[in-house]
Amino acid sequence: MSLDHLWAGWRSSYVSSFEDVGTANGAVGQRPACVFCAIVGSGESEQVKHVLWTGKLTVALLNAYPYSPGHVMVLPLRHTRDIAELEPEESAELGSTVREAVAAVRAAYRPEGLNIGLNLGRAAGAGIPDHLHVHIVPRWIGDTNFMTSVADTRVLPESLGDSWAKLRAAWT
Ligand SMILES: [Zn+2]
Repeated sequence: MSLDHLWAGWRSSYVSSFEDVGTANGAVGQRPACVFCAIVGSGESEQVKHVLWTGKLTVALLNAYPYSPGHVMVLPLRHTRDIAELEPEESAELGSTVREAVAAVRAAYRPEGLNIGLNLGRAAGAGIPDHLHVHIVPRWIGDTNFMTSVADTRVLPESLGDSWAKLRAAWT
């Protein structure tokens, strides 16, 4: 199911700013442009990129298309599409970064539950199938509200900038 967001105009300007960079990189590279590589590799500040934490091999950042406030993604810095292709060190750091993200989301949002997972391939629902990413989504009982079921639209009560500030403060 695809969901339209009420902030679509604002969101598209954020994404297109990085897609321009990705296209420029892809034009001279061997592989198609990747929006994650473009975001991580851009010279923008972590606040602009909505990056929460950068490790040796992995990075945690906010999803620009959040299913709920505090929707975090953790990904390997290396452009890799499959979990089976991860080196042992990447796999280990991915796991520890996911745990840190869960702790930060819990501290910042006090959710009643969390969805944590991977979509491998477009058929499985991956929006960006070429670069592996783990979703961490805080959930509350009743959060699939009437707007979702009736209008196929979600109201996001918080800006990405506010989410970034909250989660940065909560990240240990
Ligand atoms: Zn990539």
